[in-house]
Amino acid sequence: MELVKKLSILADAAKYDVSCSSSGSKRANTPNGVGNAAVAGICHSWADDGRCISLLKILFTNYCIYDCAYCVNRVSNDRARAAFTAREVADLTINFYRRNYIEGLFLSSAVMKSPDHTMEQLVKVVRILREEHKFNGYIHLKAIPDADPSLIFQAGEYADRMSVNIELPSRKSLKLLAPEKEFDTIVSPMKNIGAGIIERKEERKKSRKVKKFVPAGQSTQLIVGASPEPDFHILKLSEGLYNKFNLKRVYYSAYIPVSTNPLLPTFKNPPLLREHRLYQADWLLRFYKFQADELLDRENPNFDIALDPKANWALNHLELFPVEINTADYELLLRVPGIGVKSAQRIIRSRRTGSISYYDLKKFGTVLKRARYFITCQGKYFGGIPIRDDLLRDRLSTDIAGSKQLSLFEQNNDSWSNVEEKADSYLNDIPLLTGGSE
Ligand code: SF4
Repeated sequence: MELVKKLSILADAAKYDVSCSSSGSKRANTPNGVGNAAVAGICHSWADDGRCISLLKILFTNYCIYDCAYCVNRVSNDRARAAFTAREVADLTINFYRRNYIEGLFLSSAVMKSPDHTMEQLVKVVRILREEHKFNGYIHLKAIPDADPSLIFQAGEYADRMSVNIELPSRKSLKLLAPEKEFDTIVSPMKNIGAGIIERKEERKKSRKVKKFVPAGQSTQLIVGASPEPDFHILKLSEGLYNKFNLKRVYYSAYIPVSTNPLLPTFKNPPLLREHRLYQADWLLRFYKFQADELLDRENPNFDIALDPKANWALNHLELFPVEINTADYELLLRVPGIGVKSAQRIIRSRRTGSISYYDLKKFGTVLKRARYFITCQGKYFGGIPIRDDLLRDRLSTDIAGSKQLSLFEQNNDSWSNVEEKADSYLNDIPLLTGGSE
């Protein structure tokens, strides 16, 4: 098969992985223009310093020995298949890099022949790139669950970032929809990569000559809406991954129906708003010192789609508001809707030199149209309405009329009957990550 054909099949097959996002636009070059945009193949990611980098995003192969019901590459799906050789991927990457199309590589793969065989191929690619081509650009590499730990360790010597996709957020769902996979074999490489990163950091404290291991950290992806786990379960799982395995990012991917399997829900639109709320909540865990238990609980296991999770939390804790901008501590300022990390820091800094007025807040980056209902400034309240749940809920709700959001448990199959009861039982499914005994 021609290389171009392989590239088109394997770039398209990689678009379902959101661990770094595809450019999503297709635009032909104009007569005097330079470059074009492809819907798949080149994606963008962000470096630690905030720089946007373009990556060649491909699968090594979409031949797969497994039959995960939710996946377009499952063995039972009739579709065009292709596989690169390790040298082809390395040469493509270096050629695209030299032409300035890309600054790095995002390489994932289906499982061809066996996890070990696939991981060996991925290691070969990164070895050729780093050792033969002396490629110094960014590489994000997938770790194949169940592959020999020594192969994953070798990959970590070359890659900047690694990720193992959990995909389905509970053992039960994995058993149902991806019966050939085991939760523990997915989590185990994460554990090893996490331990490797920490170990190497310790060694580097003694000698800077020690090489970094997976310097950009590790990430994972969870599919939202293919299985009945509520938001609370998903968020608890993410929290466990951040705390126990030191993950850099958890990505959430709204399930896109690619199969008519009766075990899967059917809907017209992927649950994108739900995915968005999970990203917002994830942000609160990582930068706003929230815990999953503060945002949701067993009685309220799903986010209100119309409200962002921080506003929802504030409405459930109205007894704490309004807070006085000139005296509230940093932690409480962070919890005010409309005040972000930077604006809270600026408020604290500015307070040292004098009292802050309501009109100063805008230049600190505070979003007053949200914050004004939750604060006083120099003792004065600017909300204009009483601090009442119903009134504030009305002001803060996103207008979602017209954008139809999938009900969490809208589905057409019997396997999800009594789903509310089942969803609750999922909360106990992963004690390792939810704080229970290991
Ligand atoms: S192992 Fe990965 S590529 Fe293969 S069917 Fe499952 S999810 Fe798809």
